[in-house]
Amino acid sequence: MIDPQTVMANLAEVREAVARAAEDGERDPLSVALIAVSKTIPPEGIRPALAAGQRLFGENYVQEAKAKWPALREECPDVALHLIGPLQSNKAREAVELFDVIHTLDRTSLAAALAREIARSGRHPTLLVQVNTGEEPQKGGVAPGAVDAFLAECRDTHGLTVSGLMCIPPAEDPPSAHFGLLAAIARRHALPILSMGMSADYPAAIQMGATHVRVGSAIFGARPSKA
Ligand SMILES: *Cc1c(COP(=O)(O)O)cnc(C)c1O
Repeated sequence: MIDPQTVMANLAEVREAVARAAEDGERDPLSVALIAVSKTIPPEGIRPALAAGQRLFGENYVQEAKAKWPALREECPDVALHLIGPLQSNKAREAVELFDVIHTLDRTSLAAALAREIARSGRHPTLLVQVNTGEEPQKGGVAPGAVDAFLAECRDTHGLTVSGLMCIPPAEDPPSAHFGLLAAIARRHALPILSMGMSADYPAAIQMGATHVRVGSAIFGARPSKA
């Protein structure tokens, strides 16, 4: 069971840690956006975060987000929803309808599907390219060596505007080298958004330039199963 007081206290702690990490890196705390990752968390666990003013939320699954968020958005219309999980091309329509930011653009077929749905709907979610910095076969994302060509393809072939990059470092690696690599690629392309850092490593990510950190369990508690 999720205790509302605990969620509020956790959220306050994470906000403080975000601000501290920003200040340690001589950055403006307002330059770091905290995305509360609410996958698997039911509406009653999300409401205390909304009550505490949290407005950016991350979800991994289109179907789950579609089931939870329309009602929560009626309570709180200024919420911004971020899709941080893998996206199948056949869910591109629903994703474009529901999400304000999509962090997981990582292949040609998905770029084509998103371009089609953006044109059809007139909605323009912010798009980030996921980079598989650890080149892990089981993980989504473009290999670091293929990012330049993929960004050019998104722009030139599909007419998409990509605003930034996202990564999920390998669990067993120290994350900072991965954050540094992602930041270097973003700098090279003058991309303003860097989505990196989760509960275990968001202060390090902020030190390396993250503009968006994705924090779930540190706010909502441990998830029942790995998701
Ligand atoms: C689940 C998830 C998170 C949040 O993970 P925590 O360790 O609970 O903070 C962040 N990013 C992605 C892509 C995720 O899937």
